[in-house]
Amino acid sequence: LSERIGHSLDRVKGRGRLTEDNIKDTLREVRMALLEADVALPVVKEFIEQVRERAVGQEVLKSLTPGQALVKVVHEELIRVMGSEREALNLRGRPPVVILLAGLQGAGKTTTTAKLARYLQETEKKKVALVSTDVRRPAAIEQLETLAGEVGSSFYRAAEGTAPKQIADQAMEYARRQHADVLIVDTAGRLHVDEDLMQEVRDIHAAVEPLETLFVVDAMTGQDAVRSAEAFGQALPLTGVVLTKADGDARGGAALSVRHVTGKPIKFMGMGEKSDALEAFHPDRVASRILDMGDMLSLVDEVERKVDRDKAEKLGRKLKKGRGFNLADFRDQLEQMQSMGGVSALMEKMPGAGKLPPGMANQFDDGVIRRQVAIINAMTKQERRKPAVINGSRKRRIAQGSGVQVQDVNKLLKQFTQAQKMMRKMGKKGGMKKMMRGMQ
Ligand code: GDP
Ligand code: MG
Repeated sequence: LSERIGHSLDRVKGRGRLTEDNIKDTLREVRMALLEADVALPVVKEFIEQVRERAVGQEVLKSLTPGQALVKVVHEELIRVMGSEREALNLRGRPPVVILLAGLQGAGKTTTTAKLARYLQETEKKKVALVSTDVRRPAAIEQLETLAGEVGSSFYRAAEGTAPKQIADQAMEYARRQHADVLIVDTAGRLHVDEDLMQEVRDIHAAVEPLETLFVVDAMTGQDAVRSAEAFGQALPLTGVVLTKADGDARGGAALSVRHVTGKPIKFMGMGEKSDALEAFHPDRVASRILDMGDMLSLVDEVERKVDRDKAEKLGRKLKKGRGFNLADFRDQLEQMQSMGGVSALMEKMPGAGKLPPGMANQFDDGVIRRQVAIINAMTKQERRKPAVINGSRKRRIAQGSGVQVQDVNKLLKQFTQAQKMMRKMGKKGGMKKMMRGMQ
């Protein structure tokens, strides 16, 4: 995908502001990316509209293409929609505070129950009791009982044949007697949403009055996540979502769909089968994965963060006026590159930029750049402005002043001449990418 995006980026080179026209192609690629990540179609449509509205008219940083700038907007919007703030569990209430888990069969409710118990005990120092109301699957109650033993939570076991709602009632009593801070109630799921299941979980909800009602959803379910999220969202006053199996191959489009449909924050991600594989939800990480353009995003970030905008614009104006590109400008460029981790680091992240030719890779790396800057620093202002005055004796002085050999000074001057030629050729067109290509 990055390849495709790279392609359409090449077609839309930097022009001031984002317009309907210059974001069209990239927006189409983003739409494809979302669908490939299994975001549900209606959600994709609405999201794309939101992005379009936000993007059009935005200014584009000089060194970025509109496509790159748009990808940044998309990423930000994804994070915003999925919840930019970290949402903690609400445990403020009279103990035992209840957490209810609901979702389809196999979503990971029972596993998550144990994970949450462990997290609350270890991180929040809570006393936790667990109960399973899943009387449908023969081994379900044993499964949670075993897990409770493993993580060291107390477990309420009802008598054989007790109905789910009664189990929940009794578990409340039990948790009170145990002086538990938190009671986590695991429920039965079905392969598909049905009214029986919904009624059962509603009854349990009414019995235990949870502070947190979490919808547990498998990140791998993609398009189907929307349907179950809608059904559970209608049946229960959800307070949050747990996205399980986020350690799998799925690109995680379900996160966006579920968030969109329920409007509730994703509070945790399941990252494996073990009881410690629970993480706070990281919208930025999931957003990058859904978009699958991580490299480009970090490039855009770096350019935005580190390229000194004013300097770049000043340089641009200077070139337009036709005034010479001098050693002080060259130094500015070198320093910008240095702050971005050297040219080779940048080139690697640049879609479509290709690799540096052999032998060139080191030429602008950190240590080398630092030495070049030192040499330029050892010059007088006049020398920087008019390199032609630098004769043999000046070269010796500069070499001494910067702790290098005269041949290093010569080398730098040669590189400068190359850069100068390239800048002249480039004329008014500008753009980091070209600038650095020319420098090779
Ligand atoms: P339930 O029917 O909703 O209670 O689902 P379970 O908790 O029994 O989990 C179903 C399967 O998914 C089990 O094999 C779990 O080990 C697995 N599982 C649950 N959460 C995760 C997760 O975050 N990552 C992975 N890789 N597997 C998980
Ligand atoms: Mg279960």
